Amino acid sequence: MTRFVLTNGLIFDGRGEPSVGDIAMEDGLVVDVGSGLDGDESIDCTGKLVTPGLFDCHVHFMVDGDFSPNTHADTPFSLRFYLAAERMKRTLLAGVTTVRDAGGSDLGIKEARDLGLIQGPRMQISLTMLSQTGGHGDSWQVSGGHMPGLMDEHPGCPDPIVNGPDEMRKKVRELVRAGADVIKCATSGGVLSTRSNPQHPHFSSDELDTMVAEANAAGLFVMAHAQAAQGIKNAIRAGIRSIEHGIWLDDEAIEMMLEAGTYLVPTLIAPMGVLDAADAGMDLPEPVVNKARAVVRDHRESVGRAIEAGVKIAMGTDSGVSRHGQNMRELGEMAKLGMTPLQVFESSTSIAAELMGIEDEVGTLRPGMAADVVIFSGDDFDVSELGPRVETVIQAGSVVT
Ligand SMILES: [Zn+2]
Repeated sequence: MTRFVLTNGLIFDGRGEPSVGDIAMEDGLVVDVGSGLDGDESIDCTGKLVTPGLFDCHVHFMVDGDFSPNTHADTPFSLRFYLAAERMKRTLLAGVTTVRDAGGSDLGIKEARDLGLIQGPRMQISLTMLSQTGGHGDSWQVSGGHMPGLMDEHPGCPDPIVNGPDEMRKKVRELVRAGADVIKCATSGGVLSTRSNPQHPHFSSDELDTMVAEANAAGLFVMAHAQAAQGIKNAIRAGIRSIEHGIWLDDEAIEMMLEAGTYLVPTLIAPMGVLDAADAGMDLPEPVVNKARAVVRDHRESVGRAIEAGVKIAMGTDSGVSRHGQNMRELGEMAKLGMTPLQVFESSTSIAAELMGIEDEVGTLRPGMAADVVIFSGDDFDVSELGPRVETVIQAGSVVT
């Protein structure tokens, strides 16, 4: 068995203060952390920063910064999966070794990765995003047609529309059957759905309670697309594990999150991605662009207050809304809103692993943990321009090429 050692790097092991040392890996796992370690192969990490592989708790591999209806309509069904494979590889090479796919990816994509047929981050998948009629995941259009897109029903992916506790019970069971690792729902409207208002709460408490109970019965957590305060509070009250986006958090919502231990996944670069696309000339409905513009400023203010209050933050980008592979941009944006660089790295490693319930396997560089590692050029913690600094990505003890 080959013993692979990273020597003399500035190691941030996922928690606390960094220190200079060596990491030994064997059979896909970290086996030793210390100094003077030897092995069959080594990489000299002198003057480099060594961290756990990073997490992105909110991606959509089935889209890539192009959500115009024409693109979806003109893409052959099976091509979508080949396109996703390339995006997964791009994400891995960007330094992200674990993701939650927040809607779109199905069990086949995850299994293709697990079988080694394609390369990509370790995955938890939600399959789709449960929405009430007229909610963020409802593709119905005023013309009477359906907008093709991310949440299209197919044999690997149940239809996302659900109303009432009885339907909810069955729907969550269908998702569990189809391979969901986490249940995703929309407890408010959103930006990219023309007819939903992000300010409105979606799903009633009996629907949310049933969703969480059914998910928990299957050992799964629930994540909520939740933009405005009422939808966020309803989600927290129901015991949902993470609030995605959190664009309009008020003081009461922040207090409730602190009390319940709810995580916030900010996705700061997502609305920026929508505006980038509009500026680049993509044909987006005017209401969508207007919503995105209004959102950017409020979003940053809201997340900044949550950070200041001490809400648990887990890194997530909503990549797919923006182009995949730019994940490191999010870390710079988190720092701009008041997080220290070490807090940013914790949110992108150990805290993200806790959110996903896999902190005993990944997210820290300690003996027995998965040997997912990123080596950055330079041994400083400036997170403003991390993307170009990613030198080497190691997944399960093997250098990704
Ligand atoms: Zn999303």
